[in-house]
Amino acid sequence: MVRIPSNNSSLDQKIILITGAGDGIGKQAALTFAEMGATCILLGRTVSKLEATYDSIVQAGGLEPAIVPLDMNGATHKHYLDMNTTILSEYGRLDGCLHNASVLGNLCPFNEIKPEEWQEVLQVNLTASAFMTQALIPSLKAAEHASVVFTSSGVGRQGRAFWGTYAVSKFATEGMMQVLADEYKNAHIRFNCINPGATRTAMRAKAFPAEDVTTLKTPADIMPTYSFMMSDESIGINGQSINC
Ligand code: NDP
Repeated sequence: MVRIPSNNSSLDQKIILITGAGDGIGKQAALTFAEMGATCILLGRTVSKLEATYDSIVQAGGLEPAIVPLDMNGATHKHYLDMNTTILSEYGRLDGCLHNASVLGNLCPFNEIKPEEWQEVLQVNLTASAFMTQALIPSLKAAEHASVVFTSSGVGRQGRAFWGTYAVSKFATEGMMQVLADEYKNAHIRFNCINPGATRTAMRAKAFPAEDVTTLKTPADIMPTYSFMMSDESIGINGQSINC
């Protein structure tokens, strides 16, 4: 079990990419990482939301972030290779990557899952982060120590009725993290999963519309785990599935 210290880890000088940085947990992660000294690369599909995150970071006195508008449902391998080239030329390295963007899809009986929904959920939640990671390896290798964090879920560890495609995508994400952690165990890149647990966001509201949201953690509440995993304090933690 990984113990998360309650102190404020520094992210000074870190270059960190966050997917889904325009909303929910990803937005809060970008604001928190920037507040802790990181330069954030904000990736997402809705430009206006990324611009709002950018503005909040700059207004709070953070280092100027970069914006990468990209729909991970339609992105190709070339997009990711170009991202790697740009990151290397602009920053020389990538210290952290938070794979946070996901879609829930429709919660329904397994028999009713439509092929196109299956395709989209697996594309965004799994395939996009797989090929983005693959393309970014040179930037990650250029960092003294790099941390790649994938986002999991409780239903990625224990299957649950009606959560079909989303649960499968999260199980596969856990497996991919373990494969990468083992392959790179002798390199300076560590791979882990965070399961945020029930958190007050649009995705959670879509899954549980009748829920009293005041009972839920906010994205800000779970940031100590995220910032710890991005900081040098988590060097040596590899191949772990961490709960917030
Ligand atoms: P939100 O729905 O609030 O945010 C998801 C983010 O992903 C948004 O910024 C969204 O962009 C982005 N995104 C979705 N599709 C794409 C795409 N095709 N291309 C690029 N970006 C995309 O979700 P949460 O913040 O709740 O979830 C964050 C992570 O945490 C997810 O991986 C989720 O599975 C996981 N999680 C969340 C839990 C919770 O209770 N909230 C519990 C367990 C796991 P846009 O806003 O533009 O649509």
